[in-house]
Amino acid sequence: MAKTIQAIRGMNDCLPTQSPLWQKLENTVKNVISAYGYSEVRMPIVEETNLFSRAVGEETDVVSKEMYTFDDRNGDSLTLRPEGTAGCVRSCIQNSLINRDEQRVWYMGPMFRHERPQKGRYRQFHQCGVEVFGLNGPDVDAELIMMTARLWRELGIDKHVRLELNSIGSVEDRADYRTALVAFLEKHVDILDDDSKRRMHTNPLRVLDTKNPDIQAILGDAPRLSDYLGEESKQHFSGLCELLDAAGIEYTVNQRLVRGLDYYNRTVFEWITESLGAQGTVCGGGRYDGLVEQLGGKATPAVGFAMGLERLVLMLETLELTDVRRSVDVYVVTAGEGTMMAGLKLAESLREQVPGLRVMSHFGGGNFKKQFKRADKVGAAVALVLGENEVADGTVVVKDLIGGSQDTLSHSDVITKLSQLV
Ligand code: ATP
Ligand code: MG
Repeated sequence: MAKTIQAIRGMNDCLPTQSPLWQKLENTVKNVISAYGYSEVRMPIVEETNLFSRAVGEETDVVSKEMYTFDDRNGDSLTLRPEGTAGCVRSCIQNSLINRDEQRVWYMGPMFRHERPQKGRYRQFHQCGVEVFGLNGPDVDAELIMMTARLWRELGIDKHVRLELNSIGSVEDRADYRTALVAFLEKHVDILDDDSKRRMHTNPLRVLDTKNPDIQAILGDAPRLSDYLGEESKQHFSGLCELLDAAGIEYTVNQRLVRGLDYYNRTVFEWITESLGAQGTVCGGGRYDGLVEQLGGKATPAVGFAMGLERLVLMLETLELTDVRRSVDVYVVTAGEGTMMAGLKLAESLREQVPGLRVMSHFGGGNFKKQFKRADKVGAAVALVLGENEVADGTVVVKDLIGGSQDTLSHSDVITKLSQLV
């Protein structure tokens, strides 16, 4: 036998047993976002490498360590998108969507990062992101957070996530803070690990993000970013907090929350769960008012978030919120001369008369017993049986696979009965 080929490490199949839960999650996400009037955009999965180094930042983990970058046949450097915001901004600029108008958009799809695969962390994973362009105020930041809060309620996970919030100010605010922070870090340089030492010069705010407990311990005495916020940043943040309070959304302000990507300013937030172990951030976002201009567009304020769908699926599984709609309602069983054609016709007419009904036809022959076994295996609620007698009389035997009862009905009665399954 030929050697089998395996999927790439960290890149998973979504199997028929798993896809119903994924579809339920994706549909819930789409419905919630649509309820706010946002529209979908679909961007390519591959972009010029420059886009990500410019937008996400050379010094971030994503760009410096995690990207899938390759030269294509023309020698151009291309990258499998590690996140969606950069491509979304590129698309909106290129297609003149944000010159005059505001835009409220969302996207969903695979992202790629070369990380160590583990629970909740994969090399191909899926995000749904929402981005708003052209609006300045904290009202839209609040709406995005309210949208995520609604989604957690719809999914039934709202009691298992908490919101952390911070303001990282403007570029100018951060420049002052940066000087103070570097001076502080230099005093404690003997405690810093290699990553933090490097970041101290390239991107010192990222040191606040460290997972190293020794460094975390000294950071309690570090200068606080909130003391360096300018008046406008402060007002924006207190405006947001007031709106969230009024909406009844609980949050904690986490001074150390800076987020891993360089493009953020002012508002940053994360939704975190304790039910997944170390990979606890299910959604993260914030403002990125400088990015559109940085990528060659007209200066345009922007705010957005992205959530990791694998982590949400894991949460639904952990919390046993896995009830999904049956994939097959009705299984059509036939045996005898001329019954296959009658069975196919019956299945087609059911799909027409009972919209939403999921009808599977049996193929490959076999006796009734074998066919009923198959019907059970696919999880059908009802088997419809057509033998030569039924075809001759224009009737159908309806076998309830859950209750066990059995009736012979006319086609129109079958339709009435099956309508209850949808
Ligand atoms: P983390 O700190 O867990 O590495 P991140 O800050 O790198 O997350 P973002 O770039 O903000 O993550 O991406 C938004 C969301 O996408 C994360 O909150 C998470 O739910 C999900 N995500 C990020 N990287 C992965 C991955 N490798 N596998 C699965 N989900 C991921
Ligand atoms: Mg990461």
